[in-house]
Amino acid sequence: MCKHILNVQASIRAPCCKQWFDCAECHGEASDHPLRKTTEMVFGCKKCKKVFRKDMEHFEEEDEYCPHCDNKFIVEAKTPQMGLGIEGQDDRMGGRFEKDLRLKEDNMKTMFDLEADISHRMG
Ligand SMILES: [Zn+2]
Ligand SMILES: [Zn+2]
Ligand SMILES: [Zn+2]
Repeated sequence: MCKHILNVQASIRAPCCKQWFDCAECHGEASDHPLRKTTEMVFGCKKCKKVFRKDMEHFEEEDEYCPHCDNKFIVEAKTPQMGLGIEGQDDRMGGRFEKDLRLKEDNMKTMFDLEADISHRMG
């Protein structure tokens, strides 16, 4: 059962690792690589458990239904409300940002030093 889309009607087979997932986010959580985009998606209907392919480049309204049991598998996703605990992450972000600033300052110093050097030579 997928925790991202509560009313998921069909699984997708990831073209990259040939594994079945309920949604792209499930794939992201279970994998160390991004979901490869493909024009021909393989679906597995949750209702009749049959597998079918869809050409995503020519996807029409009738393609939203399972060709075996007419189950509408393209549905508006019901997503759970999530309370995001990002306080710890914020601290890390702040630290990284400070480091970036310091690096930038160093770069500028070098730049100015070079300029001073040149003008000295010119004069
Ligand atoms: Zn994959
Ligand atoms: Zn999911
Ligand atoms: Zn079906």
